Amino acid sequence: MDKPRVRFAPSPTGALHIGGLRTALYNYLFAKQTGGTFILRIEDTDQTRYVPGAEDYIKEALEWSGLHLDEGPNQGGDYGPYRQSERKDMYAEYAHQLVKNGWGYYAFDTEEELDKKREEAEAKGETFSYDCNTRMDMENSLVFSEEEVNALMARGVPFTIRLKVPFGEAVSVNDIVRGQVTFQSELLDDKVMFKADGMPTYHLANVIDDHSMRITHVVRGEEWLPSTAHHVLLYRAFGWEDTMPRFAHLPLILKPAPASFINNKTVDLYADKFVEEFFKKNPDFTLKSKQDVRAAIRNG
Ligand code: GLU
Repeated sequence: MDKPRVRFAPSPTGALHIGGLRTALYNYLFAKQTGGTFILRIEDTDQTRYVPGAEDYIKEALEWSGLHLDEGPNQGGDYGPYRQSERKDMYAEYAHQLVKNGWGYYAFDTEEELDKKREEAEAKGETFSYDCNTRMDMENSLVFSEEEVNALMARGVPFTIRLKVPFGEAVSVNDIVRGQVTFQSELLDDKVMFKADGMPTYHLANVIDDHSMRITHVVRGEEWLPSTAHHVLLYRAFGWEDTMPRFAHLPLILKPAPASFINNKTVDLYADKFVEEFFKKNPDFTLKSKQDVRAAIRNG
């Protein structure tokens, strides 16, 4: 088997927090234990969140912690550049490829139109999702003719490229930490892959880079687990499933909730919910009354 190649892929949006450092540490330890390669990739495609100096801060923090890099923006390597803003052209090509092979489409909806859809849904107590149920009511290349799309593009009308999530499929990931996790595809939205500013979104750039940098294991925080369904679909869309990395999603580090947060009212609320569920599932359980269970929980 090839030696593992793992990456720490922070966005330079601020200081490195403890959760990010823990992710870097696990990647580093895994690489060192297996004779693998530890890579730093700077994910700076979101220009609105870019914080000058954050990249240097991250590099210094890694160095200070003793997590020495094998490949990265300063170290170089065979799979560079290691800063996403320097890999822009490649993403555009892949994004258009998604449309050509039927896995994506051009969307011309303006922010105002999307906001209106969101407001309309909210007024009905619903949440708007651009997905397999709504995409045919929107302004996109699935609805417009080829001539119309060409005319819009010739006029320079801004567009995004969205992933066309298939209907009725189970998308599964065998996560090293979580085990088998399955998402129903019709619950996933048609995420934007390529933005009107000519930059990819995190999802597209991340998958293309993991593939082209030959990453074998993606070790990252659990907040990315829901996005993994879209990532698996992207590997499928590009025909890269055979070399898809293994995923390991690390539980989040949370600071203890302040005492004011866990007041008796909150405890009672959760206790009541628990008790209700419990009695529903165990109708024969008559030993304790609701109040007794509630008091027991409250008293720890
Ligand atoms: N850029 C993402 C972050 O800031 C990377 C997530 C990943 O490792 O895939 O956490």
